[in-house]
Amino acid sequence: MPMTQLGARAVVLGGSMGGVLAARVLAESYAEVVVVERDRVLGVSTPRRGAPHTVHAHGLHARGHLILEELFPDLTEELRAAGVPTGDLGEMRWFFNGRRIQPAHTGLVSVTAPRPVLENHVRNRVAAITNVTLIEECDVLGLVATADHEQIVGVRVRRRTDPAEAEVIDADLVVDATGRGSRTPAWLDELGFQRPEEERVKVGLAYTTRHYRIRPEMFDGVQSINPVASPAHPRGAFFGQVAPDVCILSLTGLLGDYPPTDPDAFLEFVRSLPVADVYEAVRDAEALDEAVSFRFPASVRRRYDRLLRFPGRLLVVGDAFCSFNPVYGQGMSVAAIQAMTLRSHLRLGRPPEPHRFFADLSRVVDTPWDISAGGDLDFPGVEGRRNLKVRIGNAYMARLQYAATKDPEVTNGFMRVAGLMDPPQALMRPSMVRRVLRHAIRRPGPGPSWRDTTPAPAVE
Ligand SMILES: Cc1cc2nc3c(=O)[nH]c(=O)nc-3n(C[C@H](O)[C@H](O)[C@H](O)COP(=O)(O)OP(=O)(O)OC[C@H]3O[C@@H](n4cnc5c(N)ncnc54)[C@H](O)[C@@H]3O)c2cc1C
Repeated sequence: MPMTQLGARAVVLGGSMGGVLAARVLAESYAEVVVVERDRVLGVSTPRRGAPHTVHAHGLHARGHLILEELFPDLTEELRAAGVPTGDLGEMRWFFNGRRIQPAHTGLVSVTAPRPVLENHVRNRVAAITNVTLIEECDVLGLVATADHEQIVGVRVRRRTDPAEAEVIDADLVVDATGRGSRTPAWLDELGFQRPEEERVKVGLAYTTRHYRIRPEMFDGVQSINPVASPAHPRGAFFGQVAPDVCILSLTGLLGDYPPTDPDAFLEFVRSLPVADVYEAVRDAEALDEAVSFRFPASVRRRYDRLLRFPGRLLVVGDAFCSFNPVYGQGMSVAAIQAMTLRSHLRLGRPPEPHRFFADLSRVVDTPWDISAGGDLDFPGVEGRRNLKVRIGNAYMARLQYAATKDPEVTNGFMRVAGLMDPPQALMRPSMVRRVLRHAIRRPGPGPSWRDTTPAPAVE
C-alpha cells in the first residue's frame, strides 16, 4: 500500500536492475507504477538483447546486497535455495598486481549469481507488488511534455506486439533507467534544454566470457579466483562459481587489448594472466558455451546535477546517470543506493524535485566514480588529468594492496571500501596507515608473472 500518495502514476523506463529497484520504492508513494521494458523479461533468467552485458561476470557488492535484502526480505535465502553461491567477500582468492592478498573474514556477503538470475529474482519480487505493472516488449519512443516544455506528463511508447500504433502513457513522474544508451540527453535537446556535460574516462575495455562445468579441484574451497588488472599486469579475470556445477570465466583486457573469442586464443589469453590459477583450472575443463565479448569504451558520468534548467517530473537513475568501469563491480550496488536516495526524497512527502535529487545522486556517485575513474588513471595509457588526489590515492592504494598480501586486517579494510560499506577515508585512519607503511614505505613493484618462472608447455 502506498504510504504518502504523491501521484496517480509513476512510469519507469527500462526494467533492468536500475529500473526495477526504482519501481520498488516508487510503489510506496504512487498509486500505480508502470515499468516499460523493450525486452521480454518476466521469468527470463538468461541474457537478453537489451542487456547484452549481463552474460558477463557480475558480483554484487556488500552494500548492494544489504540494500537488496532490506528491500526484498530473505532474498539471499531465496537465491541460495536456487543454487546461487554466496560467500565472504574477503575469503575469495584475490590477486592485485600479480600477488595474492591475505584472505580475511569480513562478514560481508558476496553474491555471485549469474546476473540474469539475480535480476529475475529481483524483478519477480517487484512484479508481485500489487500496484506495479510491467509492460514488456514495449519501446519507449520519447517524452511527452506540457506546451511550455516545463513539465513531463507522459511517455510515448510502441508495443512490439502492435508496431503500427504508438501510444501515450500519462505519468506524474517519469524515471529514466534505460542504461548507458539513455536518450534523455537527446530528448532534452528536442525540448529546448541543454544536454548534460559528460565526463568520460576512456578505458577501451572488453570482457570475454565462457562458462565451464565445475570440477571439485578447480576452486579448492573458495567461491572465486580473481586476478584483477593492474598497470603492470593489465590483463585480468573474474573466475567464479555461479551455480552448483557451473562456473563463469570473464577475461578483461584494457586499452584495445580485447580478449579473443577463438577458443585457442582465449586459452592463450588465460595463460598470459600473471597467475597460473585460472589457467590450471580451465585448460582441460569442459566448456559449456562459445566465448562472447562485450566492449566498454568508456566510463561515463552525465552531469545532470550541473544543469540549471531541467523539466519537472523527470528523473534519471542507474547507468543512464553514471556508468562505471565494470571491473570495480559497482553498478548494481550504486543503482541500489540510488533507489534508497529516491526513497528518501519520496519520504519528504512531495514529488521529487529533479535539481535536489540530482544533487544528492551526484554525492552518491562521487565515491564510486573516484574509485573507478581514479583507479583507471593509474594505467599510463588511460587519458585524463592526474591531479594530486588521484596520484596520492593510487600511490597509497598500491602500497595498501601490497600490505594486504601480508596482513588480513588490511584486506578487511580494503574490502569494506571496495564493497562500498566504508568511505575511502577509512583507509587513511592512522591505525590503517601504520599497518600499510609497516610493509610498504615505497611503492612496491609488481609481482612476477608465473610464466617468468615456468617454462611454456610444449606445443604439439
Ligand atoms: C561487462 C559488465 C560487467 C559488469 N559487472 C558488474 C558487476 O560485477 N557488479 C555490478 O554491480 N555491476 C556490474 N556492471 C554494471 C551493471 O550491469 C549495471 O550498472 C546495472 O545493470 C544497472 O544498469 P541499469 O539498470 O541502469 O541499465 P541496464 O542494465 O543497461 O538496463 C537498461 C534497460 O533498459 C531497457 N531499455 C533501453 N532502452 C529502452 C527503450 N527505448 N525502451 C524500452 N526499454 C529500453 C533495456 O532493454 C534494459 O533492460 C557490469 C556492467 C558491464 C557492462
